[in-house]
Amino acid sequence: MDEFRLLIDGALVAGTAELPVVNPATGEAFACAPRADAAQLDQAVAAAQSAFPAWAALGWDDRRELLNALADAMDARFQDFARLLTLEQGKPLDQACFEVGGSIAALRYFAGLELHDRVLRDTAEERIVEFRTPLGLVAAITPWNFPLMLLMLKVAPALVAGNVVIAKPAPTTPLTTLLLGEVAAPILPAGVLQTIVDANDLGHLLTAHPGVAHVSFTGSTATGKKVLASTADGLKRSTLELGGNDAALVLDDADVDAVAPAIFRAATLNAGQICLAAKRIYAPAALYDRLCDALAKLAGEAVVGDGLEQGTQIGPIQNCLQFEKLLGYLAEAQKSGRVMAGGKRLDRDGFFVPPTVVRDIPDDSSLVSEEQFGPIIPVLPYDSLDDAIARINASDYGLGGTIWTSDAARGEAVARRIESGTIWVNRHLDLPFDVPFGGAKQSGIGRQQGIEGLEEFTQARVVNVNLGVL
Ligand code: ADP
Repeated sequence: MDEFRLLIDGALVAGTAELPVVNPATGEAFACAPRADAAQLDQAVAAAQSAFPAWAALGWDDRRELLNALADAMDARFQDFARLLTLEQGKPLDQACFEVGGSIAALRYFAGLELHDRVLRDTAEERIVEFRTPLGLVAAITPWNFPLMLLMLKVAPALVAGNVVIAKPAPTTPLTTLLLGEVAAPILPAGVLQTIVDANDLGHLLTAHPGVAHVSFTGSTATGKKVLASTADGLKRSTLELGGNDAALVLDDADVDAVAPAIFRAATLNAGQICLAAKRIYAPAALYDRLCDALAKLAGEAVVGDGLEQGTQIGPIQNCLQFEKLLGYLAEAQKSGRVMAGGKRLDRDGFFVPPTVVRDIPDDSSLVSEEQFGPIIPVLPYDSLDDAIARINASDYGLGGTIWTSDAARGEAVARRIESGTIWVNRHLDLPFDVPFGGAKQSGIGRQQGIEGLEEFTQARVVNVNLGVL
């Protein structure tokens, strides 16, 4: 077994306990992660605070150079990252490679950004300039579906803007975060990036810690609300990327054969464990049967298995708790709808749920109204477009969504009526780093990516100078 270490104050150290890490494809532990305690967390916060002034003073160019060196070092360990990601998370190795490559690309992209002063007045009488300064210690708290990518979307902009970071992964996927710490240890100054692993017991101590200036959190809406409450006392900044119950809306002009594979992928990529996955599919009555049949056929053909096996398209569910939740949704599907494909856990070790297509299920069924976070796809008919849009918008969530149509202009007009942060037309999960991203309603607060995302890790300040007579 490889040895994993926390990165605290520049040193790779053991935890005060150990946390077994389970391979979801087998259900067996394959590694041990060091588990930190509250004293180690305090130590990391103190180290971060002493590292912050020098890192902030270093300037954009020198920080950029160090972050590019980190990207090179990650590249040199590319295969280690990808294999570890598949082992701890479950996703097929080609998708793990995509995540690792995307994470390195994100690091290079954000390392290349810089925020400049904004001159608001510059006359003989006055000069008013807005400038931005880093906030201090950023707590980067991540979930288990994209442990490396979601971490990098926080770490890279936070660091290049001059902040220091403590990364806290989900307890079931800590290893790629720890590997990032190991790779960063010889490159970044002590305390600039640190890693803390917990068993879901340190997150609230971290977010409430007086030494933390900003919380960048990705996870469930329920936990996001706790994070927001815990930051209230210090009036801390926070960016919350939370859950979603995104709809895929098929318009009556769509070509079913063309859109079915795209919608199937939108619903089952990463075994459906994506906040932005298509979680309920709305089809006009005239296309409903054909779409259900096409999705069921794709579900029947999909290769489900261990992510390390070549040819696997859909891996296991990441952890036992989520797996059991999905077994509940499968029971609900059998009870309230008509299962067209899948429907039962696979008869093998590990946490496997096959892609499951469910039709004739009511909107108030938990499979439709809640965020299932798995490859179980409810398909719902609609009679009028207004009715479909009203049903889609009836959710407290407002993260993403997709429109499928042969008429892109009509698609854009419909997309504007969906109450979500990002709505795609005839594509899904296109998230260029320069395009800001964030949830509406209870799917989040704040933006990630783009200049807006970078600005979230800074404080805007204004200097207002009178150049005239007093
Ligand atoms: P899930 O319910 O899918 O496990 P969570 O939103 O609870 O997702 O977890 C996302 C991240 O938030 C994980 O790193 C988890 O350890 C962390 N976390 C859990 N509880 C809290 C909390 N009260 N405060 C801060 N972070 C937390």
